[in-house]
Amino acid sequence: MRLLLVEDDPMIGKSVQTWLKAQGYAVDWVRDGVAAELSARDTGYDLVLLDLGLPRRDGQEVLAALRAQHRDMPVLVLTARDAVRDRVRSLDAGADDYLVKPFDLDELSARVRALLRRRSGRAEPVIEHGELRVDPVSRAVTVGGAAIAVTAREYALLLALLDSTGVPLSRTQLEEKVYGWGEEVESNAIEVHVHALRRKLGADLIRTVRGVGYMIARPDSA
Ligand code: CA
Repeated sequence: MRLLLVEDDPMIGKSVQTWLKAQGYAVDWVRDGVAAELSARDTGYDLVLLDLGLPRRDGQEVLAALRAQHRDMPVLVLTARDAVRDRVRSLDAGADDYLVKPFDLDELSARVRALLRRRSGRAEPVIEHGELRVDPVSRAVTVGGAAIAVTAREYALLLALLDSTGVPLSRTQLEEKVYGWGEEVESNAIEVHVHALRRKLGADLIRTVRGVGYMIARPDSA
C-alpha cells in the first residue's frame, strides 16, 4: 500500500513515516500543500494523511482539490486544531476521518487499516482467500492454518494483489504500491517477490496475465 504523508512538522513527519514504513507501507512524505497536490496527481495513492496547517497551501484547500480529483481516495486529517469547527469543516469537505495531535501511533495505524479496509469494501479485518488468511493487524500470513514467513516487500505485494482481486496489476503499478520515493528498485524486483510468494503460498495463487502483469483471481473463479 502506497501512502502520501503531508506534514510540515519535521518531528511528527519523521516519526509517522518511520512508524508506517515499519508496518509495511510505502510512505512518501511531502511538507507543503502544493507538493501534496502535485504528488497526488502523479501517483495513485491508497490513502493520504493530511495535516491542515501547511505552508504554501492550506490543508483545507488541498483536501478540496484531492476530492475533486480522486473521489475514492481515503483522506485521514491530522490536525493540531482542536476546534470542533475545523474538524466538522474537514469532514464536510470530504475527509474520511481525523486525528487530533498529539496522537498515539497505534491508534494512527488502526485508523489507517480501517480506512483501507473500508475502501476495499471489506467489513472483516482479516483477509481470507481460499486457504490463505492475512491479518493486517499482526501481518500474520497463514495457509491452511500454517504460519508462513514473508518479507515486508512480499507482504506489501501480496496485500496489493489481494486488494484488487480479479483485476491484473502491471509491474509498474505493483512497484508503486511496494516502493516509496528514493527506494532503489531492481528491474526484476517484482518478479523476484512473485516467485518467492508462489514458492511459499502455492504456485496457483498469483497468476501471470500475459502482457499485463499479475493477478490473484477472485476466490469463486479460482
Ligand atoms: Ca502543520
